[in-house]
Amino acid sequence: AVPPIETDALIVGAGPVGLFQVFELGLQDIRAHVVDSLPHVGGQCTELYADKPIYDIPGVPVCTGRELVERLQQQIAPFGASLHLGQEVRSLERAADGRFDVATSTGTRFLARTVFVAGGVGSFQPKALRLPGIERFADTQLFYRVANAAAFAGRQVVVAGGGDSALDWAIHFATTEAARPARVTLLHRRDEFRALPATLRRLAELRDAGAVEVVIGQPTGFETDGERLARLVLMRPDGSSTTLALDDLLVFHGLSPKLGPIAEWGLELDHKLVTVNPATFETSTPGVFAVGDICHYPGKRKLILCGFHEATLAAFAAVPYVDPERRALLQYTTSSPQLHRLLGVE
Ligand code: FAD
Repeated sequence: AVPPIETDALIVGAGPVGLFQVFELGLQDIRAHVVDSLPHVGGQCTELYADKPIYDIPGVPVCTGRELVERLQQQIAPFGASLHLGQEVRSLERAADGRFDVATSTGTRFLARTVFVAGGVGSFQPKALRLPGIERFADTQLFYRVANAAAFAGRQVVVAGGGDSALDWAIHFATTEAARPARVTLLHRRDEFRALPATLRRLAELRDAGAVEVVIGQPTGFETDGERLARLVLMRPDGSSTTLALDDLLVFHGLSPKLGPIAEWGLELDHKLVTVNPATFETSTPGVFAVGDICHYPGKRKLILCGFHEATLAAFAAVPYVDPERRALLQYTTSSPQLHRLLGVE
């Protein structure tokens, strides 16, 4: 068998917070390995809103989800973390020597002195459209996320859903300058939408202007032209039936968070979140930390900047586990020669 990878720190999850955890550990001179079940880094930022703007990252007035992730990758580059993508961390057990024995779905094994659970909402799964047989169009005409908005240029796009994600995408497609779809239809089961007030106002404007067509109905079936998904069959609120032609169907019926294997690791949980001490972000298992959306403490807010703070304090708290002789001192990146050496900016 391949020997396990020995490491001072293992990070579970390569979302924005897992990535920033690499940076904060690096400043403490601790090298990390990072595992993510997705084939790419960035977590929700890449998976759910790569092309949408974020306005509340301190010092970055606006950047898209993808840009934030690119900047984080640039920022952590000096610390050369090893990424293990496309594999889910399945088990975490205490080894005889006190380290953590961690195994992934593809058989990679680690022996880690510290573990940082940055698993976000866990392995999140979009809620599927419940129409028997429609799944065969998945990733060709049926999508649960937008990987590349430009791919819908010139097409008849139906966005299904009544919440923020559906409305944001309908608005995005109707207002984008480049690569605009030929027609944008928002499909929802009733004429009531749940979203931020500004989003609702914008939708009303675009609806009045004819830029977004709103169709009220419940999908009950579909029709094909040869191999192609051609139309949805809808039941209107009055019980009558109609069809809606389309090229692409984007479904945003919400996500069901699946905590997945993290729930099996013996960590104390609170409503599917991992309980931490907010001074150290340590879980109920000494040496295992939890940061970002997955952690819970009084006052927790699921925001990226909160996750960055959590990763910072967790890195400080991890130092004695890696080197019991060393004290984690506060140093400034502006002036510390030691941090400059670690960052490679001497
Ligand atoms: P995530 O981004 O969820 O990443 C967790 C990663 O862990 C995932 O990649 C997952 O695959 C992986 N993972 C989970 N379990 C395992 C396992 N067992 N093995 C391997 N990998 C695993 N926040 C803001 O601050 N500002 C905003 O403007 C903003 N806008 C948002 C817009 C939308 C549409 C959404 C959905 C969220 C928004 N957020 C925003 C919230 C923000 O995206 C989250 O707070 C942030 O992504 C949390 O980062 P994270 O690293 O903790 O988790």
